[in-house]
Amino acid sequence: MNTEALQNLAKAIDCSAPLVVLTGAGISAESGVRTFRDPDGYWARFDPAELASPEGFRRDPELVWRWYDARRRQLLQAQPNPGHRALVALEALCADFTLITQNVDGLHTAAGSQNVLEMHGSIWRLRCTRSTREWVSRDVFESFPVHCQCGALLRPAVLWFGEMYHQGRLQRALEAMRKAQTVLVVGTSGMVGIVSGLLDQASRQARLVEFNPNPSHISAACDTLIAGPAGESLPQLLQYIQSKTPRRP
Ligand SMILES: [Zn+2]
Repeated sequence: MNTEALQNLAKAIDCSAPLVVLTGAGISAESGVRTFRDPDGYWARFDPAELASPEGFRRDPELVWRWYDARRRQLLQAQPNPGHRALVALEALCADFTLITQNVDGLHTAAGSQNVLEMHGSIWRLRCTRSTREWVSRDVFESFPVHCQCGALLRPAVLWFGEMYHQGRLQRALEAMRKAQTVLVVGTSGMVGIVSGLLDQASRQARLVEFNPNPSHISAACDTLIAGPAGESLPQLLQYIQSKTPRRP
């Protein structure tokens, strides 16, 4: 149903010009990752601000760690889907490709994407609350809260309510948006947080294309809506781009 729109988009995308893809929870939902929390589960009783804020962590680090451990265990079962994999292949075709994601589940890097800006951090990175050193860990833990070797508390290196964006990452994201020729906005529907600010940076010069199941709050800001699951439309777009791109000898 999107065939014509996707073919036109494939024609308009110049693989030698900067391409930005901005992703949100929708692309992960197709991998079975529940958005933020399971409304029927144990964690539904808790306020998100309690589980994902510096104040909540100071008040009850054990509770916060149990919540993140449950999410890590759930995410260990999740696999990248065809939408994630299409973005890996698209990156390989493009000379200047930036993937900006709001997701903390690490599925883009698990799929093989290289130039990824994880704006909200990653649930697979741990940070020492004393030294601020960070590292990748896919460990599951037995006792909570989790401590660093130095004795200080560890925390997940994700952006919590009320915290500032990582400045270096934010600058790189803004810069990528400012020079983009095309921006694909995938699976993010709200103008919350950083999305509207990023789209503002690109709206003057770039073609903005929304990939969402239905029209959303960002539709008015975008030039085109490709309605439907990204796990279908992104591989289709990739195929059209590949068919117009001469293979390298
Ligand atoms: Zn430490």
